Amino acid sequence: MRRKLAAGNWKMNGTAASLAELTAIAAAPAPSEASVLICPPATLLSRAVSAAADSNVMIGGQDCHVASSGAHTGDVSAEMVADTGASHVILGHSERREDHGESNEDVRGKAVTAWDAGLVTVICVGESLSEREADNTLDIIGGQLAGSIPDAATGDNLVVAYEPVWAIGTGKVPTLAQIGDVHDFIRMRLERRFGEGVGRTVSILYGGSVKASNATDIFSVSNVDGALVGGASLKAADFQPIIDALDAS
Ligand code: PEP
Repeated sequence: MRRKLAAGNWKMNGTAASLAELTAIAAAPAPSEASVLICPPATLLSRAVSAAADSNVMIGGQDCHVASSGAHTGDVSAEMVADTGASHVILGHSERREDHGESNEDVRGKAVTAWDAGLVTVICVGESLSEREADNTLDIIGGQLAGSIPDAATGDNLVVAYEPVWAIGTGKVPTLAQIGDVHDFIRMRLERRFGEGVGRTVSILYGGSVKASNATDIFSVSNVDGALVGGASLKAADFQPIIDALDAS
């Protein structure tokens, strides 16, 4: 069975004071069905792991370098992320793809390194507005899945996040039918490439302007196993209702 996952991506937000939000999530009664993951900036990873100790909340990084070590000033390796006690790493977020020119091949290489370090990868895919308007959504998603996910994927080392670029941080959300079409397509592609046994066990998250008011509807869509949440994960008061909605779905 695949797990439901509520994942928060703090992006380049948060200092030590922000750990109070994580502590509040960690202190809430553990969801019975959903797992919770928070991905703070690299500077907070170790302290976040300590703050979440003895709770059900898992901690993840937001990126890692493709190399396991070496002369890469300012970068963080997968081994370093894992060394903090983090269990997951987000890879291929559209902001990384845009801001740092990351290609599918880059993401694939990072995933191999992350798996070698024992991390679970949350690999992001998603179309731009112009790609959706040109009716190219499924082609784009198919190409990103094929190019970004290494061959050794399993339900234990991989989570896929579908994040339409135009829905991230904009308040715009695809219709439930649009979300369902893409999630069904991702499931079909995962089963076709990795076999039904693996393809069925990979969790597929939706991301893009998820908030308490739309979470229940989004979690009712077929093949939506949870959410990757940006803005609404920064405050426990905003994120907890999303976790609760997923747990109840
Ligand atoms: C994200 O950054 O992955 C994201 C989905 O952001 P937001 O929830 O703010 O749209």
